[in-house]
Amino acid sequence: MMPPKPLLRPTDRGLACAVGGLLVDPWQPAPVAVVTHAHADHACRGCGRYYCAAAGAGVLRTRMGADAEIHAIEYGTRFTLADESGEAELSFHPAGHVLGSAQVRIRAMRGAQDDRVWVASGDYATLPNPTCDAFEPVACDVFLTESTFGLPIYRWRPPAEVHARINDWWRENAGAGRTSVVFAYGLGKAQRVLAGLDASIGPIGVHGAVDGLLGDYADAGVALPETVRAVGEHKAALKGRGMIVAPPSTMGTPWLRSLAGGRREGGGMRTAMASGWMAVRGRRRWRSVDAGFVLSDHADWPGLLDAIERTGARSIGVTHGSSEALARYVREVRGLDAFVVPTRYTAEDDANAESDDTPDDGGGA
Ligand SMILES: [Zn+2]
Repeated sequence: MMPPKPLLRPTDRGLACAVGGLLVDPWQPAPVAVVTHAHADHACRGCGRYYCAAAGAGVLRTRMGADAEIHAIEYGTRFTLADESGEAELSFHPAGHVLGSAQVRIRAMRGAQDDRVWVASGDYATLPNPTCDAFEPVACDVFLTESTFGLPIYRWRPPAEVHARINDWWRENAGAGRTSVVFAYGLGKAQRVLAGLDASIGPIGVHGAVDGLLGDYADAGVALPETVRAVGEHKAALKGRGMIVAPPSTMGTPWLRSLAGGRREGGGMRTAMASGWMAVRGRRRWRSVDAGFVLSDHADWPGLLDAIERTGARSIGVTHGSSEALARYVREVRGLDAFVVPTRYTAEDDANAESDDTPDDGGGA
């Protein structure tokens, strides 16, 4: 007997569902896009209709444009999408990655051979993050997991420890009359860095790409310290004692250099990168920063394995990053069925995407 045609399958347009006419995180404009989160490697402009978790609707609108048709669905609420091929039942569940990020639970109501429950997790993280809802394991038969950091070398320290190190570094720089700069991807990582800053140390300035999303975070009720856009008359207060949070693409720009502390106070500037990739300091473009803080919005190796186990799924699809390694481990050590889901994006793309700040660029690691 032929195995049933899977409910979700990778196509050159993204992950297609056999019924309901929908794609999960399409890479090209599609009539119906079910979007896990607003990073550019998961959400593209020009789709007919978008479905997303309600918590992420604000940032998705900011990125997809005012005219986008966005259907915001509360976490855990089931809804259906139907077309001539059949009907799918879907729901969103928190993924702990960035504001509004979701796993998508899908099963066919009619029209499909495959009656299993699928969960497409998008990007997810399992450690505490005050800027979004915590990851919730969802029981399923088939779990599609990312593996951006799917190697045993990746093990994150508790986030509170990393935030304390960032504050210590800032305090030391401010004491020496130096401006502190943390490079962080504009959607998600930047706000997470901000949430951990001790505003009693000094004033906090942000780049426009970060500032443009702060309204959505405020609307979603995420508490962040007071910030100013690091331009014009705000610059004087920031120089020599402030903290600047900016996308990595601002590295070496005249704007950034203009925020250095004056020579009289000691002067200059110290830069740092906040990223999971700082766990492996070889990457050339980041050698120029003075410090690295290992802060990731993706699950580390133990987090991936724990998440996989908690779904109870017998079949695991692995995508993004070290997918072969994680799939092999899951198959050989855990005894589960595991397969690789090809993606247009490679781990290297992911790392590069993180260094860009334009709304059309990819997801921060
Ligand atoms: Zn992402």
